[in-house]
Amino acid sequence: MTQFSDLLTANHAYAAARANVADARPGRRLAVVTCMDARIDVFAVLGLHLGEAHVIRNAGGRVTDDVLRSLALSTHVLGVEVLVVMQHTKCGLAGITDEELRALTGADLGFLPIDDHAAALREDIELLATKPYLVPLKAIAGFVYDVESGEIADVVRWER
Ligand SMILES: [Zn+2]
Repeated sequence: MTQFSDLLTANHAYAAARANVADARPGRRLAVVTCMDARIDVFAVLGLHLGEAHVIRNAGGRVTDDVLRSLALSTHVLGVEVLVVMQHTKCGLAGITDEELRALTGADLGFLPIDDHAAALREDIELLATKPYLVPLKAIAGFVYDVESGEIADVVRWER
């Protein structure tokens, strides 16, 4: 499959020129939870560089059990204290229901669709803020990234 060969060819060039980061702890003590959407270049959007942040991605950028699992490690093992939860405009999980997504995929799952970005961000940040094991988190921001303008709306803030 040429897709895989293309990826490996690109890797040769990358490996020859890459910067090395020895410390696994994010330099800015930051984690970003965001959507898997291919239009979001997380590092570029937020002005981040290699080694500075954990980036945890899934459909919708929602706070799932697996996001909580990752953040328990980010905070307690790797020193993360600040979190951004970033949803985005034109998201495939917005304006659609669980029933429609189950019909579309044939998967009997809870997809965490988004009715309203601000409400979904508030719900997810409330969940994060009330987890006793996430006590190292000092501040959380809920952003909505506009995939057309590239700009971020600063929607929710929380601080301990
Ligand atoms: Zn999305």
